[in-house]
Amino acid sequence: MLTVDEALATILSHAKSGGTTPVPLAGALGHVLREEIVADTDSPPFDKALMDGFAVCVADLAGGKVRLAQIEEVTAGRVPTRAVSPGHATRIMTGAPLPDGADAVVPIEVVEVIKEGNAIHAQIDAPQFITGRNILRRGQSTRVGESVLEAGRLLRAQELGCLAELGRATVAVEVAPRVGVLATGDELVPVDDTPGPGQIRNSNETMLVAQVHQAGATPVPLGIARDEIGHLKEKIAAGLELDVLLLSGGVSAGNLDLVPGALQDLGVEQVFHKVRVKPGQPLWFGVHRRKGGATLVFGLPGNPVGSMVCFELFVRPVLNLMRGLADITPKSTFARLTEPFTHVGSRPTYHPAQLSFTPAGPLCQLVPWVGSADLSATVEANCMAVFPAGDAVHAAGEMLQVIPW
Ligand code: AMP
Ligand code: MG
Repeated sequence: MLTVDEALATILSHAKSGGTTPVPLAGALGHVLREEIVADTDSPPFDKALMDGFAVCVADLAGGKVRLAQIEEVTAGRVPTRAVSPGHATRIMTGAPLPDGADAVVPIEVVEVIKEGNAIHAQIDAPQFITGRNILRRGQSTRVGESVLEAGRLLRAQELGCLAELGRATVAVEVAPRVGVLATGDELVPVDDTPGPGQIRNSNETMLVAQVHQAGATPVPLGIARDEIGHLKEKIAAGLELDVLLLSGGVSAGNLDLVPGALQDLGVEQVFHKVRVKPGQPLWFGVHRRKGGATLVFGLPGNPVGSMVCFELFVRPVLNLMRGLADITPKSTFARLTEPFTHVGSRPTYHPAQLSFTPAGPLCQLVPWVGSADLSATVEANCMAVFPAGDAVHAAGEMLQVIPW
């Protein structure tokens, strides 16, 4: 049986990225950039005020308290019409262009504004004030021609903001993989139905579709396939046009675990079946080669926590690779176990847990959990704690690998 690392390496060796497509900026969140973005202008495009106050010649302030005559007022979006000369100042608002001659902005909070008839004076006592204070010079943030974002970057809110500043209404991104989700099982009814005797609701579809979304890919829900070979093959065939197909259920050792056989009948080549992992041991993986590409097919365990954990360990990394991310494996960290735990078995266990950051360092508190069918435990958890294979007592305070969800 493959280890977790071996299974992941095998899966990744069958994946490739999906190519490039232009998208409108508003739809680019969570995509991976596929072009280099170069600044088309300086940012800021002019010397600008960073505070509301008075644009002054700093040399005027050196002698202590001084009274400067206001020559004009400039708000954001307007341009100054007069240069500031010694003894004078311009009332200026944040974001407005700095007038010629001025070399600092004194914040309004430290200015006493004195009105005498039509004349306005700024009385300032700030002899320590230095040139350049509260000003952002043209091009100080970015220079025209400078590379701002490189290909391969995940587009988050701040990258979208930069792209907007640079006037990029459309950007080239990696095509997000399309991922079919097909639940299998005679016991399953849709979420809005009331289960009859022996039936349960199809919770895996909703969960897996959400995980696909979170992973930045495009989910395609395919409904429920009955445990009948003809119906199963019909439903699976609809998913074999996509980049990835996730099936849930029907891959363990029961009489009606028909998924591996159905997949093989449809020409999906089995790569491996079963991984040394708990939960998730029944995982099946294969590849369907077709004209114009291939579909990666995962037979995930029916038990919800097994499905969820296999998605995080094996599906999310391959989706990361397919959507062009450089850093694809789940981020893990280390935390101290809050209570002792006795681990038994020859498979590593991925146990639902609560990771918290405290002044004493990261802590990992296990969530009470009765195994792979116990989905409600995962609701209380924000990570999985990794217990290595083998029988061992893990003491409170021991450092453990944890993978945030
Ligand atoms: P199976 O792998 O098909 O034997 O299913 C294992 C367990 O997972 C059984 O208890 C199933 O009822 C349950 N199960 C299978 N598919 C789903 C699903 N889509 N949603 C919730 N539970 C499921
Ligand atoms: Mg089943």
